[in-house]
Amino acid sequence: MRTAAELTERFREPGLRVTPQRQAIFRLLHGVDTHPTVESLFEAARVEMPTISRKTVYQTVHDLEALGEVALLDVGTGSIRVDPNVERAHHHLVCSRCGTVRDVLLDVADLRVPGRYRREFVVESVEVVFRGVCETCVDAPAPAHA
Ligand SMILES: [Zn+2]
Ligand SMILES: [Zn+2]
Repeated sequence: MRTAAELTERFREPGLRVTPQRQAIFRLLHGVDTHPTVESLFEAARVEMPTISRKTVYQTVHDLEALGEVALLDVGTGSIRVDPNVERAHHHLVCSRCGTVRDVLLDVADLRVPGRYRREFVVESVEVVFRGVCETCVDAPAPAHA
């Protein structure tokens, strides 16, 4: 993920507006590897910028995605997660109890669909999701409704 200053430049090139609210979101995403939801970004941004709107956060995240600066993931946790790690191809470990999403570096170059599918389907990318229980949750008692 680029720094807030670099993203400011990147936004200005195609004429996108850069406001202090947008820069707060850039700063919040920089160096983050927790794959925040848009909602949690909004909560965090509000601490710094009480006047920021949810709509601004959504719009900024979508503009970042359009510029290829973040990826939006749906890993089955019920919310879209913002992934600022677009530099390195990676996959994900997803905790099925708390929804934590972590990066996993893994080479899937040898992973291919069998030939009969390849005749009718062109694979463009592969995403691997490992589901399980994170370190924190494994030690905690399982919730009663689970
Ligand atoms: Zn967990
Ligand atoms: Zn990731």
